Amino acid sequence: MLFADLGLCPELLRALADEGYTQPTPIQAQAIPVVLSGRDLLGAAQTGTGKTAAFTLPILQQLQSVPPPAGPRLLPRVLVLVPTRELAAQVGESVRTYGRHLPALKTAIIFGGVGINPQIDQLRRGVDLIVATPGRLLDHLQQRTVNLSGIQMLVLDEADRMLDMGFIRDIRRVIQALPSKRQNLLFSATFNPDIRALAEGLLHDPASVDVAPRNTAAQTVAQRVHPVDKSRKTALIAHLVKQGDWKQVLIFTRTKHGANRLAEQLVREGILADAIHGNKSQNARTRALADFKAGKIRVLVATDIAARGIDIDQLPHVINHELPNVPEDYVHRIGRTGRAGAEGEAISLVSSEERQELKDIQRLLKRDIPSSTVPGFEPGSQPSAEERAAAAARPPMPPERDRPRAPGGRGHAPSGGNRRPGGGGAGAGNGNARHARPASRDGGAARPAGRSNSSSQRPR
Ligand code: AMP
Repeated sequence: MLFADLGLCPELLRALADEGYTQPTPIQAQAIPVVLSGRDLLGAAQTGTGKTAAFTLPILQQLQSVPPPAGPRLLPRVLVLVPTRELAAQVGESVRTYGRHLPALKTAIIFGGVGINPQIDQLRRGVDLIVATPGRLLDHLQQRTVNLSGIQMLVLDEADRMLDMGFIRDIRRVIQALPSKRQNLLFSATFNPDIRALAEGLLHDPASVDVAPRNTAAQTVAQRVHPVDKSRKTALIAHLVKQGDWKQVLIFTRTKHGANRLAEQLVREGILADAIHGNKSQNARTRALADFKAGKIRVLVATDIAARGIDIDQLPHVINHELPNVPEDYVHRIGRTGRAGAEGEAISLVSSEERQELKDIQRLLKRDIPSSTVPGFEPGSQPSAEERAAAAARPPMPPERDRPRAPGGRGHAPSGGNRRPGGGGAGAGNGNARHARPASRDGGAARPAGRSNSSSQRPR
C-alpha cells in the first residue's frame, strides 16, 4: 500500500515525499481511513510504530478540507493531549513536518515549565490545532485564555502514561470544557482496567486498531539480559560502549539521582554523556537531547518519565541500568529502539536483587529474555586491575544535596542542578515513586500526595 492510496491531499503527500516516506506503517494504513471516516478510534500502539503520523496526517487532512466556521478564527478545532512536554514538542514537530505545505493551518504547542504569555498571545491570534499537556491547558482554561467549545476532534496520546502520571482528573476537567459532539481518538501502549474504563467512557462505537500486540515488545528489538553484580554495572556499561564502539546509547535509571551519577561516572571514564530528568529545566533537557541527536554526546541517561517522547530515528542501543519495577515500563523503554522497522538492541543489566522484576517482565512478555554473562563481569567475579584502578581514581561521590551545581551542562558534564522554580519535587521522573504517589506533572514537578487539584497549589 502507498500513502497515495489513503486519500490524503497532495500537500500531505508532498510533505511525506519530502521525508522519504512512501509506504504507511501498519498503524497508519489502518488508522488513517478510520479517522478520515469520522469514527472514534482506539489505537493499541507503542511509540516507534508511526502512530504520531497515524493521527496527525488525517487531522491535517480534515482541517484543510473543512473550512473553519465563519467569523474570527478564534476557536481551535482539534485538541491533542499528551503526557509530557517532550511528547508535546515531538507531536508539534510532526504537525509542522507534515503540515509544511499547508501554511494556513495554525498550531499551538502548550506545556508547562515555560512562560505562559507567549502561549496566550498565540491563542489570541487564533489557532486550528492545540497540542497540550493537561496541566498547562487547565491553567489556560481557568484564566479563560483558551476556548475549547469549538473542538471537533480530541486525541489522547499515550493515555496509559497520562493515567500513570496522575492526570485522570485533569483530563476529565478538560473534557468537560469540550462540546459533547466530537470525534475521539485514544492511543495507548498498554491496557489496564483504568485505561479500559477511560476508553469506554470516552469513545463511541470505536474502531480498534492494534498493531503491536498488547504488552509485548516490538518485534524488531533484540532483547538480552546480562546478569551482573550491582556494584559493577557502571563498569560493564563503559565496557560495552567502548568495546562495541557504540555511538548512541540511551540508558534508563530508576531515579534522577542515579541518572546524574551514572552520567558523571561515564564522563570520568571518557565517554561523553549527559542526563535528562524531571529536575532539569526544559532548556537543559532540550539541549541534552539535541546534543545526543547531533552525536555530540554518546550516552543519554534518562528516567522513565523524562524519556517519554524522545524520538530518535533508528536508536540502536537501549540499556536498562536497573529494571523498572513497573513491568509495562520495560515495554515503553525498549520501544525507544527498533523504531519504524529499524533493528535495535535492548540490554538489561540484572543483579541478583532484581530477580523478581525480571520474572514480572517475562510474565508480561509471555516469554523469557535470552540471558548471557559478559566475560569478566560474571556475578561474583572480581574487577580487573584496570577497573580497580579506574574506581580508585574516582573521587568519592558526595551526597547529591552537597554537590556543586554544574553550570548548565554545555561541557557534557551532566548538569545536575537546574531545578525549575517551584518544581522539582522528589519523585518526578522516577519510576520508583510513580506508583507510590499520584504523580509528576508534565514530567516535571511532583504533586504532593493527596493534595487538591486546585490551580493555586499546582507546581509550575
Ligand atoms: P512514532 O511511532 O510516531 O513515534 O514514529 C516513529 C518514527 O517513525 C518517527 O521517527 C517517524 O518519523 C517515523 N515514521 C513515521 N511514519 C513513517 C513511515 N511511513 N515510514 C518510515 N518512517 C516513518
